[in-house]
Amino acid sequence: MLKIKNLEVSIKEGKKIIQNLDLYVKSGETHTIMGPNGSGKSTLSNVIAGHSDYIVDGGEIEFLGEDLLALAPEERAIKGVFLSFQYPVGLPGVSTISFLQAVVNEQRKKRSEPLVEAIDLIQMAEEACEMVGLPKSFLHRPLNKGFSGGEKKRAELIQLILLQPKIVVLDETDSGLDIDALRVVGNVITEMQNSSRGMVIVTHYNRLLEHVKTDYVHVMSAGKIIKSGDASLAKQLEKEGYSWVKDGK
Ligand code: ADP
Ligand code: MG
Repeated sequence: MLKIKNLEVSIKEGKKIIQNLDLYVKSGETHTIMGPNGSGKSTLSNVIAGHSDYIVDGGEIEFLGEDLLALAPEERAIKGVFLSFQYPVGLPGVSTISFLQAVVNEQRKKRSEPLVEAIDLIQMAEEACEMVGLPKSFLHRPLNKGFSGGEKKRAELIQLILLQPKIVVLDETDSGLDIDALRVVGNVITEMQNSSRGMVIVTHYNRLLEHVKTDYVHVMSAGKIIKSGDASLAKQLEKEGYSWVKDGK
């Protein structure tokens, strides 16, 4: 469903960040991307979502047979692309539930799907709260205002559950989480895995993969995927670090 071919990305100042990157995600597959800091993992996630800081100098990204790069970020979201942000921003004055309702119905409207009534949305959001281990009262707090790191991550997962996207890109959704929160993230990802959805998980740690089944693990270094394997590769990286892959052994 997602085909990234020979991708080349730079930033406005001209620095090349990603080169010759290929990644094919079929529906139903989960791909995990690991790699040292600064290797371009967030850049890749942002380019899939359509972030304007990045310039695609070459290659292509096809999503469900369409040229994803030709679409604006909002259009990508409507087509079913979901990106979690590594550092989500706050929206003062907007309650979490109003935000969720706006986002869900905006997408449905653009897809000419029936809108969700407020009462139904509240029920769906309350169920999502339960799944991510937050009290229902959380929905009435201003979005991301005063949320702890863990609460922000959980709020994003609520959004993910309500939007039911076709391809999910999670950029270090597990970073800085305690063991319980990590299990929650793992359970939600597992719950979301199905045969018609693709997942791309960016993570630093093998520990998330104790809770989530991944089909592939890719190692990114200096803007390229330098090694691919299955979940055992993540275990090996945890034990031995990245240097052995970087040395090309
Ligand atoms: P990772 O997520 O693997 O840690 P990033 O994609 O965040 O790596 O960063 C890759 C490289 O690109 C780094 O050298 C980083 O400083 C640079 N970079 C990423 N985004 C920007 C940006 N918006 N402006 C300038 N440099 C950036
Ligand atoms: Mg990053």
